Order: sequence, then C-alpha cells, then structure tokens
Amino acid sequence: MKVVKFGGSSMADAGQYRKVRDILMADPERKVVVVSAAGKRYSGDHKLTDLLYLCYAHIQYGVDCSTIFDAIANRYIDIRNELGLALPIEVDLELLKHRIDAKEISQEELVSRGEYLSAKLMADYLGFQFIDAADWVKFNMDGTVNEEESYKALQSQVILGYGAVIPGFYGAMPDGTIHTFSRGGSDITGALAAAALDADVYENWTDVSGFLMADPRIVDDPQAIPEVTYDELRELSYSGAQVLHEDSIFPVREKNIPVNIRNTNDPAAPGTMIQEKFVGDHDPDRFITGITGKKDFSIISLSKRGMSNQVGVLRKVLTVLERHGISVDYVPNGIDNVSVVLPTSSIEKELYTIMAEIKKEAQPDTLDVHHQIAVVAAVGRKMAFRPGISGKIFAALGESGINIRMINQGPDELNIIFGVDNKDFKEAIRVLYNSFVTK
Ligand code: ADP
Ligand code: ASP
Ligand code: MG
Repeated sequence: MKVVKFGGSSMADAGQYRKVRDILMADPERKVVVVSAAGKRYSGDHKLTDLLYLCYAHIQYGVDCSTIFDAIANRYIDIRNELGLALPIEVDLELLKHRIDAKEISQEELVSRGEYLSAKLMADYLGFQFIDAADWVKFNMDGTVNEEESYKALQSQVILGYGAVIPGFYGAMPDGTIHTFSRGGSDITGALAAAALDADVYENWTDVSGFLMADPRIVDDPQAIPEVTYDELRELSYSGAQVLHEDSIFPVREKNIPVNIRNTNDPAAPGTMIQEKFVGDHDPDRFITGITGKKDFSIISLSKRGMSNQVGVLRKVLTVLERHGISVDYVPNGIDNVSVVLPTSSIEKELYTIMAEIKKEAQPDTLDVHHQIAVVAAVGRKMAFRPGISGKIFAALGESGINIRMINQGPDELNIIFGVDNKDFKEAIRVLYNSFVTK
C-alpha cells in the first residue's frame, strides 16, 4: 500500500485534480491520499493558505475580510463546478464565514480550512472516504505529536482496500481545538499516515521531478538527484531546500519507509528516492548530493586572549542565548575566538540586551555582530571519502571574487557550510553548482 501526498500546486485547479486522479488510477496501491490547500495556479497567483492568514490578520484588526474570503470561496466553488461535482461546499463555506464574522474562530483553525476543503472536494471527486485530520492527528500539550495514539486512531478509521482522503497540515490538541504544523506541514501529515499504516512507500507529489541539485529558482535547469539518504535529506531541507518539510523524515525513518518525491506534471519521471542507505553507487563521479542555502543570518563573534586555555567562555555565550530562548545554528571557532551563527529574525528584537549580557558575562576583548549573511551548504554522503572538496569549493568561490565570511564542517562530513554576504548568495550557489556539476 502506498500513501500519497499532493502539494498545493497539485491541488491548484480542476485540471490538477484530474491529473491526481489519473495518477491514482494508474496504481491501485495508491489508496491513502493526503492533500494540501490549493496552491498557485501560475506565478503571481495566491496560495489559499496565505489568503487565510491574511483573512485572519484582517479580522484581528477589526477590518472586514469579505473580499479575501470570496476569493477563497470562489477557488473551491470553481473547482467543484468544473469537475461537475454535486458536493454542497457552500454549506461549509457559509458556516466558516459565519464563525469569522462572529470572531469565533482561532487563527490555526481558520488557516487549516484550506486543506479541509481540498480534502472534502478530492474525496468527493474520487469517491473515497474523507477522514478529518482532527480525528486522528493528536498533538500533545507541548505541540509534539502523540504518535502512538494518532496511529491507532487512523488505523481504526481507514477501511483498507477502499480509498481515503485526508487533509494535511493540522490535527487536534488534547482539548479538541485545531493545531497546525509549521508552514509546509502537510508533508508531515503524509509521513505520519504512511507510518501509521505501515505503507510500502510514501509518495510525495509536487511540481518538480524530485530533489534537484540546487534550487531551480537560482540555477537554470538543475540536475535531478535520484537517490538521497534520510541524513542528507535532513541536511538539505534544514539548510534551505524546502521541497519536503524537514520534520517529515522522523515518522517514516522509524519504520524504514522510503519516500519518493514525484512530479504531478510529469508522472513518468522517477523522481527522488529517499531511504536509509543505498547499495551500489548510482553515480560514482558525483560526490556532492546537493547545494542549498538560506539568507538573513547574523554572526556574533567574540575574541579573548588566551580563550583556548579558559573553560566556559562559549558556555557563557550559549547560556545568554538560551536564556532568551534562541537556538544557534553553527558555532565556528578559532583558538582565541568563537562565533555563533543564527537567523537574524531570532535576535533582532533583543539584540542590544543580548550583546550587553554577553559582554558582561563572557568579558571578551572584542565583540562584534555582522548581519546580512547567507549560509550556503554543500551536502553529500560521499564527501567524507574524497579529499580536496573544501579546497575545490573555496577555490571556485575565490576565483569568482566571492568573499567567505564563515566556514563550518560537520564532524560526520555530511556537509560543508560557509557564510557569504547576502548579496553574493545566488552567485555562490551558481558558482558551486557549475564547478561540481558541469565540469
Ligand atoms: P508543495 O506545494 O508540493 O508542497 P513546495 O513548494 O513545498 O511544494 O516544494 C517544491 C518547490 O521547492 C519547487 O517548486 C521548487 O521551487 C522548490 N525548491 C527549492 N529548492 C529545491 C531543490 N533543491 N530541488 C527541488 N525543488 C526545490
Ligand atoms: N498549506 C500549508 C502551507 O501552505 C501546508 C502545506 O502546504 O504543506 O504551509
Ligand atoms: Mg511543501
């Protein structure tokens, strides 16, 4: 049995619904379907989930959101009409509008309605059972998922051999209120469903033919990556390749269920296979699996003469950050200096307090902060066995005049991470891609 998840672009309009049905009809094993809210139909279009967040922002400030709401409602009514379905979706929409007007709805419940409506329509179109995520994805009070309870609840609701459609992105708190995952979280719902039902494979259908070696919005027509390990996937998605939500790997990995990323618009393409390890080598000459990155980091660096002989300087810095609830992404260090690299958004509000506390508690000789840093990661399980990769990376960047602000390599040699100025971000990715892929 296969659990299949379709992302926003695969649910964007009636034409996409037809493609989804064809994909399901082509393989009778594809029985349990997890869907996202309708995504963009063309570039410049709006994602339904974004409109729902916008709608909530309006009502919060007491501004009427009817125009936005109508746009949302019409997307679903159009899909229903174009597919010739009889589902009275207006009933759900009117109830929702009523609760919005009465200010009776939480933000999380409102933004979850995109997937709810998608799933209802898709279930009707396919003639499958609709299973509400609120009836089986059970969150603990701390926002983690109670996997055991959730799996049991799903198992008791799925009628095996029959088809089921489940909305992604949300579940219920112990008191029954709706709670959502972070953005892109329908991937996690799909992974949970696959784990609950011991699926043979978790297919994740999107608008690209699998993981590509670099973001297609930065590099023209990047090569696809046929095989990725779970470890590499964590690195790739954490460091910026948001094809699959980084947390969706835990449930499937526990049960050793492979993930297959596929393209709804090109179902014949094999996509990317993600699993624990691979026997044999798909392409022995390729030792970088992918290149990713994110912008807008800050580097706090401090130096202190004789730091290498003093215990506790780094601990003091980390304690200050911990006190403010800030987690650190990377900690590159030298003999008498150390830096912490973190997203600017996480320190922005309290920066001056934090700097003052570090100064007081760690008593460094110098203390600086640099903003507008992009972090770029070269990820690959085979890098550990190849000498000279970092040399090649830094030579390529140097030749292109890109200044490197920070270097960090993980102990498992699964990644080489470096910081550049935000303005050099895209160029750094292109330079790396070209030096490793086309030569
Ligand atoms: P879905 O709506 O199906 O969940 P997402 O938008 O979450 O899809 O993820 C797919 C998108 O991820 C692609 O359209 C692409 O623009 C982007 N992307 C970023 N980096 C990569 C990469 N390395 N490989 C493939 N796609 C990437
Ligand atoms: N619709 C949600 C979002 O836009 C969840 C998802 O698509 O995975 O974040
Ligand atoms: Mg996604």
